[in-house]
Amino acid sequence: MALFIDVEVDPKVAADSELARKLVEVCPVNIFALGKQDKLEVVEKNLDECTLCELCLAVAAPGSVKVKKLYGEREVLVRRE
Ligand code: SF4
Repeated sequence: MALFIDVEVDPKVAADSELARKLVEVCPVNIFALGKQDKLEVVEKNLDECTLCELCLAVAAPGSVKVKKLYGEREVLVRRE
């Protein structure tokens, strides 16, 4: 279970195989994986490896990928525009 980080992906993005593939590609610590029919899956056991690099935020539309810090000030990283 993730203690420090949670990642939320809009279901429309998760179902878009092209975007799903891009997310898998950009994340340096394998938080994303392709599941059945190329649907995006978040790999829970890797969540705490997140480096907060924000590369995933750049891939999809603003607001559709959120990286939530579950510690400290519990900031949510999200692309705004
Ligand atoms: S912020 Fe970086 S390390 Fe964290 S999920 Fe996004 S791409 Fe992966």
